[in-house]
Amino acid sequence: MNLISLLKTNDAKARAMLEEIRWPNGPVCPHCAHDDRIHPITGKSARNGLYECGECSKQFTVTVGTVMHNSRLPLVKWIAAFYMICSDKKGVSAAQLQRDLNLGSYRTAWHMAHRIRAAMQEEPLSGLLSGAVVVDEAYVGGKPRPGEPKSKRTNKRGRGTNKTSALAMLECSGRARSGPVERFDAKTQKSAVINSVHAASVIFTDERNSYTGLGESFPNGHKTTKH
Ligand SMILES: [Zn+2]
Repeated sequence: MNLISLLKTNDAKARAMLEEIRWPNGPVCPHCAHDDRIHPITGKSARNGLYECGECSKQFTVTVGTVMHNSRLPLVKWIAAFYMICSDKKGVSAAQLQRDLNLGSYRTAWHMAHRIRAAMQEEPLSGLLSGAVVVDEAYVGGKPRPGEPKSKRTNKRGRGTNKTSALAMLECSGRARSGPVERFDAKTQKSAVINSVHAASVIFTDERNSYTGLGESFPNGHKTTKH
């Protein structure tokens, strides 16, 4: 997963992605925490991804209780914004969010960044990440600035770039951690994940070989997604 492929995702896929991350074992009612009598509500007038709880009769979607709730912005853009903010240790400006996510106004971008950062700060980044945790590689460093020496003027993406390598870990509640790693080899990546994430968590990564064997440290599951 990278920003470009994320942005090509449609809203239904983005919703499925969020549901998979938030509810790896199926929908859970955010009002009463029951998970055994949840029914999807379909039909023309129903909002996408709406569920009803048979226990408390309340309705909900996957965004209830998150910063994405009641937002008119597409989920894809929210996920991409989380990704950008979590994977860039230098911080992402609202102007950059507006440009990269093609948002309608600076004000929208500013509010989005503000809500995401506020959610990330609700709990300080101490302790281990837990629950469902997405792990992905990230390369930190924006486009070369005008006037930068030509030798530095490479804007290559992915492996082989001269950007700083970082490993981004995102918890479904919105807590995240990212930090530079010396290299993207199996040993470095695996130990970074094991040191940051609670052993009872479910880990989501792409299919790269460097993550093979993570399941041994996370008995509840290591799920992979296609790149
Ligand atoms: Zn309920």
